[in-house]
Order: sequence, then structure tokens, then C-alpha cells
Amino acid sequence: MDSIYSSSSSSSKGKNIITDALSNCFYCKSETTTIKNGWQLYGGDLALLCESCCSAYEDGSFCSRFHKRENGWRDCALCGKMLHCGCIISLKDIVLMDFGGICCMDCGNKYLIRVRI
Ligand SMILES: [Zn+2]
Ligand SMILES: [Zn+2]
Ligand SMILES: [Zn+2]
Repeated sequence: MDSIYSSSSSSSKGKNIITDALSNCFYCKSETTTIKNGWQLYGGDLALLCESCCSAYEDGSFCSRFHKRENGWRDCALCGKMLHCGCIISLKDIVLMDFGGICCMDCGNKYLIRVRI
């Protein structure tokens, strides 16, 4: 089965690690020979992801695809985009605002409030 994502050019990170042996995706546990770097774990290692988990992670749709039923969803105070608060995967996309609440990284960059959770 071909990947739905025709690998978009702009991913400078997330290099493919192609191994001969099958590895298991950190998240979905499926077996794959193409394993990619995902988010950083507390231990300092990177989560190793299969193609589809990694593309979801890179394009920011991971939480909306896999964490829909989990708690912690809040909307960006500025644009209303749903953000998965307290989730390690969304950590990079969430900005805490000075006056309370959260906003997405796009809005955060616009308003130059750059306090990370
Ligand atoms: Zn996976
Ligand atoms: Zn999440
Ligand atoms: Zn926003």
C-alpha cells in the first residue's frame, strides 16, 4: 500500500532511518522497515515512528487524528484552532499567553508571546 502522503519537500527533519530489520512504531506498534524520528521523550531519546504516524506528527494533525477522545482539548484564544493541551505531541504547537489561556504557535508567533509550556 502506498503512503497517502506524497512526501512533502519541506521536511528537513524527520529523516528516514531505513533498517533491514523490522522495527515497531513507538505509537501504533505496527511493524515497519522505514522508521522516522518523532517527538522527544523524557529520557532524551526520540520516539521512532512509522511513516503514517510520523507524517501526522509533522503536519500537526497527530492529536486530531489519534487523540480525539482524550481530555485536554482547548481552543486557541485567538483563532479558535483546537489544541491538545498537556500532550507531549502538541507541546511544540501550544503557546501560553501572558493574560491566561493558550494559543497556537501561529498566533503565538504573530503576537510574539513566546512562553512555552
Ligand atoms: Zn505508527
Ligand atoms: Zn495529543
Ligand atoms: Zn491560533
